[in-house]
Amino acid sequence: MIHTIKKNSCFIILASLLAACSGGTKTVGTGLDAGIERRIDSVMAQMTLEEKVGQMAQYTVDVIGKGGNAYFSDEPFEVDLAMLDTVIGKYKVGSILNTANNRARTTEVWEKTIRTIQERALEETGIPVIYGIDAIHGTTYTAGATFFPQGVGMAATFNTGLMKEGSRITAYETRACNIPWTFAPTMDLGRDARWSRQWESYGEDAYLNAQMAAASVAGFQGDDRNNVGPQHIAACLKHYMGYGVPVSGKDRTPAVISESDLREKFFEPFRAGIEAGTLSIMVNSGVINNVSTHADKRLLQGWVKDELGFDGVVVTDWADVQNLLSRDRIAEDYKEAVKIAINAGIDMVMEPYNLAFCATLVELAEEGEVSMDRIDDAVRRVLRMKYRLGLFEHPYWSRAAYPDFGNPTHEVAAKSAADESITLLKNENNILPLPQNARILVSGPNANSMRTLNGGWSYSWQGEKVEEFAQEYNTIYEALQNKFGAGNVRYEPGVTYKMDGQYYEENAPEIEKAVRAASGVDYIVLCVGENSYCETPGNLDQLTLSENQIALAKALQNTGKPVILVLNEGRPRIIRAIEPNSKAIVQLYLPGNFGGDALADILAGDVNPSGKLPYTYPKFEQGLITYDHKPSQNIEGKMDGAYDYGAQTSVQYPFGFGLSYTTFEYANVSVDKKEFVSGDELTVSVDVKNTGNAEGREAVLLFSSDMVASLTPDVRRLRAFEKISLQPGETKRVSLALPADELAFVNAEGKWTLEEGDFMLQVGNLIDKITCTKTKMWNTPNR
Ligand code: BGC
Repeated sequence: MIHTIKKNSCFIILASLLAACSGGTKTVGTGLDAGIERRIDSVMAQMTLEEKVGQMAQYTVDVIGKGGNAYFSDEPFEVDLAMLDTVIGKYKVGSILNTANNRARTTEVWEKTIRTIQERALEETGIPVIYGIDAIHGTTYTAGATFFPQGVGMAATFNTGLMKEGSRITAYETRACNIPWTFAPTMDLGRDARWSRQWESYGEDAYLNAQMAAASVAGFQGDDRNNVGPQHIAACLKHYMGYGVPVSGKDRTPAVISESDLREKFFEPFRAGIEAGTLSIMVNSGVINNVSTHADKRLLQGWVKDELGFDGVVVTDWADVQNLLSRDRIAEDYKEAVKIAINAGIDMVMEPYNLAFCATLVELAEEGEVSMDRIDDAVRRVLRMKYRLGLFEHPYWSRAAYPDFGNPTHEVAAKSAADESITLLKNENNILPLPQNARILVSGPNANSMRTLNGGWSYSWQGEKVEEFAQEYNTIYEALQNKFGAGNVRYEPGVTYKMDGQYYEENAPEIEKAVRAASGVDYIVLCVGENSYCETPGNLDQLTLSENQIALAKALQNTGKPVILVLNEGRPRIIRAIEPNSKAIVQLYLPGNFGGDALADILAGDVNPSGKLPYTYPKFEQGLITYDHKPSQNIEGKMDGAYDYGAQTSVQYPFGFGLSYTTFEYANVSVDKKEFVSGDELTVSVDVKNTGNAEGREAVLLFSSDMVASLTPDVRRLRAFEKISLQPGETKRVSLALPADELAFVNAEGKWTLEEGDFMLQVGNLIDKITCTKTKMWNTPNR
């Protein structure tokens, strides 16, 4: 079925989203509610050790599903009351997660399931269970939910208003399922193009991630973290921290991160999200500098709880206590693994299958290997989250209270986010937008697939069930038919994915068929990229786009017809061989259910693209680099004398790059203080003019460069951004706040330092110099 969006409402919503964007995100902060703490005191005074330990346990729902075994349940799904007696009756478990059989459910099934669980929990302990779910780019596991672009696309919008609104809508729709807790947002800096979860994060930059963290937490949780209310849910910033840069590029393998990068970059989004009030964080499944993060007391107890005063819940990732034993081999047995993790500061264990956890922790407590103080602290945090979410008053509710689930205004917001995320990377001789009567061949394995538009965490973990649930939305092919007329658009994929295989498997290519189909058309829209994947199954051995897809692109380019290359991929696959002969290149990322419509609007010129790359697009397998690299990673020019140590790294497209159908001119940059010291608030102002003929949006980015520092400085750092909208000929003066302390870095001793000397500021193509006149070093861990 072809599904269209109501245009009028789109504009109203867009206006309010942009207004939200310029207003910024309110910081909610931390702070306990005395009433809640008193109620926790009285509940805890009556709890047995077994009941306390149960609150620290989380199991996956298949464990309590009828039939099958712990890993699978019978369909249709029903709770097995006998298993519920074991899990809640015997072990007093306080939390359940996930969907059964890795499949989306209706709001009706969710309501029934959770009501059954809660009734048993209330009867047993009087304490409601907290149900957690991966609502990642929408309410992942619910049929009919609204799907936004994945994190990387949201980052490309450079619009925190859209981020906040997307999280607000997801919160509402997740509540409609009786679920009050999401494992999102994902704040692993996407700094390694090879990593299979790059698309879940908000790109490579710490500041952009931090801004998105604060916006997302505010959208999920609303304004009062002590009283989250029925319209909002608890956020869970993950995966704390440094998960995104495994040395091998493969998921859940060890990372090596300098102490200064850890504090200055990787910690930043978590700090921002905690200061914005997140009620929980999830721990990195991996190993940093040889320490398994689930065993890292310094990072869990020290940096988060002691330094930042975080009063929420620290939950493990999936089976990661067991991983301390069977994968990392830092424990002799399961009991030692539990002891290490809980003593490091874990409050809740996402077990997810092993029912031995509760008895093991009880034993450890009785033997004094885990102190009662530690257990009480963990339980208090879990109960606090339940009180803050209002679960004691309303452990379950009726889905009828959420009539706006999946409604058109939600869809309009998701479409706007897709519009603003799409990034135009090349537009030779302004070949785009296409004329209205264009005759188009749509080709490539991503051309007619809802699965590839959505990616993983879409109706199932790996996204392989998308076609079953998303028939009402438009693939790229369908959307182009709607836009340019069915008679003008033909489809011949040339390459197809093997739908029941690994994400990287393809069927035997039919390139000649696609080449033949190109005769008689004016343009070829070639949609390449990746099939859906997630986590470890998404590991890759080669970053270059698949051989079949490269061959298809070359063959279609050889027809002489102009090729518009559309990239629909979770990470930047190398396209060096086919970039020069592509007349235009459009990056879709994973835009969600409205990605096809958004692309059609952009190709037709009904929407002017405004996305910017939130990462550096590599050109070579051996040329992986981030924009905030060290000077020695890219030295232009030659050294004098016998030896030349110039190390150059070419990239395909830089961080922050993205074209528009109009042009913007930057002029009159000024800084209100040329000389500054720590504590000063600087304001950088610039005129931005729309010098073209189309209305356009522009993300204005402010970068700084520390010219000389005692630790080799990053060449550039993003310090502020704002997205504005300009009519043709219109000029706006944009003022960007730059707190001087933002220019500090973390030195070799792990201390924040603002050093005297010059800084260059860059906005658009303009630069200005400012000078710090007095060095300051912080003796506190955070500025
Ligand atoms: C992932 C987490 C996710 C958890 C629960 C893990 O495999 O790493 O991101 O929240 O599963 O589904």
